[in-house]
Amino acid sequence: MQPKPHGGKLVNRTLPAADRARREAELKELPQLVPFVDQVYDTEKIGIGAYSPLEGFMDSAPLESVLTPGRLPHGLPWTIPVLLPIPSITDAQTLARLQVGEEVALLDGNRRFIGLLRVSERFRYDKKALAESVYGTHDPTHPNVQDLQLAGDEALAGSVDLVNRLTLPAGRSELTPVESRALFEEKGWKNVAAYQCRNPPHTAHEYIQRLTLEREDVDGLFIHPVVGRLKKGDYRPEVILEAYGALVNHYYPSDRVVLSPLTISMRYAGPKAALFLAIVRKNYGCGLYIVGRDQAGVGRFYAPTAAHRIFDEYDIGVTPLRYDESFFCRACGWMASAKTCAHPASDRIDTSQTRIRKALGGDGELPVELLRPEVAAILRQPDVLLTE
Ligand SMILES: [Zn+2]
Repeated sequence: MQPKPHGGKLVNRTLPAADRARREAELKELPQLVPFVDQVYDTEKIGIGAYSPLEGFMDSAPLESVLTPGRLPHGLPWTIPVLLPIPSITDAQTLARLQVGEEVALLDGNRRFIGLLRVSERFRYDKKALAESVYGTHDPTHPNVQDLQLAGDEALAGSVDLVNRLTLPAGRSELTPVESRALFEEKGWKNVAAYQCRNPPHTAHEYIQRLTLEREDVDGLFIHPVVGRLKKGDYRPEVILEAYGALVNHYYPSDRVVLSPLTISMRYAGPKAALFLAIVRKNYGCGLYIVGRDQAGVGRFYAPTAAHRIFDEYDIGVTPLRYDESFFCRACGWMASAKTCAHPASDRIDTSQTRIRKALGGDGELPVELLRPEVAAILRQPDVLLTE
């Protein structure tokens, strides 16, 4: 059975087409706020129901209960705050108009009208408490802690109406939860496993996907790469999708896998992010969720098995599929994990992104045990990495 959305009902805060033109005509009369890009993505995700049951940006009461005990005020598990900090560069005239009861136009970086916010609260929030609870650290080398320091000190809360979907580069489209649910139904898939990723696929990823596809309780796999705000040195979103497309098209049966991007900013909150990402996939219609080792981690901030364990603490109505680290073992001549291979680590082919990039950068050989040639060809193209 397809899982019900989180909280029971799929939120739809997308403005009907008939109202859109009218609201766009009113734009010049509204206070106009250009949030950080992360919140532009969140506006769209709230609008299409990806964050059900959230209907808008959180106010101070849900924020507090999301920090501790990691639930919405009615007890539903939720571990990542969805806040709208007011950027500190906002001009004084706009700032003065951001008041409770006001309607505010949310614009993207190109000043395109994305959404409407009905302000229910304007409040200061405790960045230190947030960093400690969500990311477990104040360390400014943590990317999200760093972002938090740059974010405004005050936040706006309130319900959101999505006016326009995000514009994606040509050829790229992104399924909404309504669309993915309809697609799974059309395919006759009752039990869909979601795969979270943010890098092009290598063989260790593929192995876990294959193990999932072999399961009797899995009808299909939803590969759902996070391609939101990225940092310098990351692969471009198009490259990640093209690389996944090559794997899916060349190696998987066409009736067993669906690939679609998820444009949100990555929260590297380890276990708390893993749970959040699973809740989002539940809203897209996935009742099973693949949890790799150190999922949504960064650096050495989280214990590698923490993302596995958090699914014992919260029941979100999704079956976690927990996998150990996998690798190609030369002695086994096969993909394996510590559960299936007796050999020392020196027999394993290093599948780290660092190693792959090094090999791609030079003339170094990329063994098929590490990367599919179709994927390697895409990653060897010029300008695959973001330079700023
Ligand atoms: Zn082995």
